[in-house]
Amino acid sequence: LLLSAAKSGAAGRASSGSSRLLSASPGSGRLAGKVAIITGAASGIGKATAAEFVKNGAKVIIADLQDDLGHAVAAELGGPDMAFYARCDVTNEAQVAAAVDLAVARHGHLDVMFNNAGIIGGTYMGGPIESMDMADFDRVMAVNLRGVATGIKHAARAMVPRSQGCILCTASTAGVLGGSAPHAYSVSKTAVVGMVRSAAAELAARGVRVNAISPYGIATSMGTRAVREMLGLPLVGAGAGDEEAVRRVFEEDFNEMGGGVVLRAEDVARAAVFLASDDARYITGHNLMVDGGFSVGKPLNVPVH
Ligand code: NAD
Repeated sequence: LLLSAAKSGAAGRASSGSSRLLSASPGSGRLAGKVAIITGAASGIGKATAAEFVKNGAKVIIADLQDDLGHAVAAELGGPDMAFYARCDVTNEAQVAAAVDLAVARHGHLDVMFNNAGIIGGTYMGGPIESMDMADFDRVMAVNLRGVATGIKHAARAMVPRSQGCILCTASTAGVLGGSAPHAYSVSKTAVVGMVRSAAAELAARGVRVNAISPYGIATSMGTRAVREMLGLPLVGAGAGDEEAVRRVFEEDFNEMGGGVVLRAEDVARAAVFLASDDARYITGHNLMVDGGFSVGKPLNVPVH
């Protein structure tokens, strides 16, 4: 990713995105009346999406492993009627099934399943392929791919009988381009897109849409940890200078978009709102890139006059 040249003038011009959680407006909005499960919603993209979903009128189940953060996010979003935390390890099929059953028991139906939980794995680039850690490979695949497949399976169980529903899955630019993440992570995200296509092909005729969203680098806890490793910085206890170096990578080195726009978790959340809404009712099997054009081109390695 560091091959991307720093974009001139991008420093300090952050987007208007805010990590502040937004107050609920039940009964109105693009997702009014919809019930959603979001995995990995205690943090980062999942948390931002939970906030955006509630703001748009949905009721959400925050499914994650981080109990304290999960409860705090649910409380911030208006408490159990609007947002309810349920512990759910996506590598455990019984817990995924229980999260789906909980949504149906609390609200009568499930409209949106956002399979978003993910991990990057061991160390950021993981070293040469000859030293690839196969236990780490299995862990990453278990969360990022098998967890997504399990979520699709159990969401379909709740959605198909009603002939409606929307399943979203977080992939990544690393799933369409090699060289920007560890092998296990990259292949897990490529496979998420394959899983989405396969499930969408079956489920379209049964009324359920399945789509992927592929973000580029965002300064969430996962993204920040990866960049600290790339820069050789300590993972905890980084000083102000270190934080500034990390900020520069996300806002300048990674950044593809001009006009002072920097990718935030909220941008992914708004893409998810669109795909989950009835505005996207004929869109299925798609992989929506939220990457400022990163995946569509690379400048030639020759001087341009
Ligand atoms: P994050 O670390 O802030 O959030 C990930 C969440 O997933 C955490 O709350 C974590 O507790 C949860 N989680 C991890 N393993 C889990 C499991 N087994 N069961 C349930 N929950 C689990 O990171 P993020 O950036 O918000 O990541 C969200 C998704 O976005 C991931 O799938 C990630 O691969 C993807 N993504 C992130 C970036 C980025 O740069 N941040 C870019 C592209 C894609």
